[in-house]
Amino acid sequence: PFLIDELLKIRGLEVDFDGFKAVDGVDLDVKVNEVHFLIGPNGAGKTTVIDCVTGMTKPTEGSIRFDDVELRGKKENSIVKMGIGRTFQTASVFEALTVEENLDLAASFRFSMLKLLRQRRGTTDAVERALEDTGLTDVRDKPAGTLSHGQKQWLEIGMLLCQDPKLLLLDEPVAGMSPEERTRTGDLIRLTAERCTVLCVEHDMDFLRRFADRVTVMDEGKILKAASTVAEVQADERVQEIYIGK
Ligand code: ADP
Repeated sequence: PFLIDELLKIRGLEVDFDGFKAVDGVDLDVKVNEVHFLIGPNGAGKTTVIDCVTGMTKPTEGSIRFDDVELRGKKENSIVKMGIGRTFQTASVFEALTVEENLDLAASFRFSMLKLLRQRRGTTDAVERALEDTGLTDVRDKPAGTLSHGQKQWLEIGMLLCQDPKLLLLDEPVAGMSPEERTRTGDLIRLTAERCTVLCVEHDMDFLRRFADRVTVMDEGKILKAASTVAEVQADERVQEIYIGK
């Protein structure tokens, strides 16, 4: 149960990199259990916004409230513990470990050593569910290093799911994927949103047309269009301009 309808509420966010405002007064609301896409041209500041949520980048101004708790000033690992997971453009998995070992390891981070001994069962269930959700059951015994690009991305998402996150931040999850892999990724994202909330940075208009609940558009550090439906975003002339202009 969440305290509020808006799981993530960002207000007046500013990030200054040596005098350059990469993020310049951003407001963003992400509702519980929605799949929210953050789009915009390269350099718009999308990844920087995500980095502020995870605590990797320190904002110069503004507030980031997650389930009504202020995240600014919190350390990265305490933000993870609050239930926020993120993926990167290049999947970070342990290549020498098998798929199952990767998931096991990720699941074990949720539990203290004592709990781990008592709740071994809970960890196994989380791993089995992640294998099923990501469609990686057949390759569970393969080293992660031998997986395809798409499979590695799904494994990374699976590793986060093992930690039972409330908010999943995905950075361009379908970059470099084939059409079939994109569809599978979209299906996985929709499935994920039944249990948690997803904020996804992505360029691909076709992809978000199929899988987004709401979309926010950024350009040059600012919000060009606040949270809207895909249809509203597509009909917006300013959005068309930045997309056709690229
Ligand atoms: P997007 O994800 O929308 O492509 P980014 O958030 O990655 O945009 O970057 C926004 C702007 O901030 C870009 O102009 C980028 O070059 C700049 N930038 C990002 N990270 C840093 C950094 N650590 N130091 C200086 N400039 C940065």
